[in-house]
Amino acid sequence: MPDNKPISLSRRTLLIGACICFGCALPGSSFADAPMAGGDAPGFYPLKVGDFEVTVLSDGKAPLAAMKLLQGDKSQIAKTLKSNFLAEEVDTSHNCFLVNTGSKLVLIDAGAGSLLGPRFGRLAENIRAAGYRLEQIDEVLLTHMHTDHIGGLMSGNELAFPNANIRADKRDTDYWLSDESMRAAPADAKRFFEASVASLSPYQKGGRLKTFEGANEIVPGITSRPAYGHTPGHTMYEVESKGEKLLLWGDIVHVAAVQFADPTVTIGYDADKAEAEREHFRVMDDVSKNRHMIGGAHLPFPGLGHVRSDGKKTYSFVPLI
Ligand SMILES: [Zn+2]
Repeated sequence: MPDNKPISLSRRTLLIGACICFGCALPGSSFADAPMAGGDAPGFYPLKVGDFEVTVLSDGKAPLAAMKLLQGDKSQIAKTLKSNFLAEEVDTSHNCFLVNTGSKLVLIDAGAGSLLGPRFGRLAENIRAAGYRLEQIDEVLLTHMHTDHIGGLMSGNELAFPNANIRADKRDTDYWLSDESMRAAPADAKRFFEASVASLSPYQKGGRLKTFEGANEIVPGITSRPAYGHTPGHTMYEVESKGEKLLLWGDIVHVAAVQFADPTVTIGYDADKAEAEREHFRVMDDVSKNRHMIGGAHLPFPGLGHVRSDGKKTYSFVPLI
């Protein structure tokens, strides 16, 4: 009779012990000094929204100093991180989204490129892994102009997207490309302005940086939705086809384990904390009521899912996968 019983712990220990002994007995069979590969899985995830194909593309994953950066009741934040088995630093995804409408290929956010070190800058390889070429992209829509969303616009001295227009809300271009704002900014924030100029001005010189104000249909089926606060012009993009909707909400949430349960928690990078907090509630309220799927730049890859209202001003994230 075949032995279908699950292996007991003690029996499993014995088996593992036997394997180790067998391994030791082989001459030259040590594998322990292999370098840590430190790699990552291929980072793209396709999804249909009506007739459109949306592909989530990873630009990388890096630790975020959650305890230090999150703003709110620090003891409650510490408790929430602990109860979610998270440390003070949380591994955080950096997601971009490619929308193929059938007539236009539209990228939402461009990743960090080479500006933030080796954990970032995987967008280009993941675009290719997903079956597209960078030259095919017609439009790059920016949720905002922080370095992790714009650095990938350039590849060395070359335009990474040689045939694309770059579009952003005028409030962000006015702020991040302004000498006056840079001069007024604290010393440790100047690098954000420098990154904006380095990434955007080559497109601007070629007449390819286009701005919009507030809510506009940017290409058929993709509409900008202002959600100012994280930056002066922070913008979400609503993708809609055949009555199906996906809201790509940019940086509304950085640490899912904390900020869905308590949307009053903001992050050090928010330009206007009161406005950012208001937007958290407004957007979560809207998408939970209307049952719209959302895609987040910093939600765990692929960053897609729904928001469920848990009662009075608390929410939870229900990941698609
Ligand atoms: Zn970001």
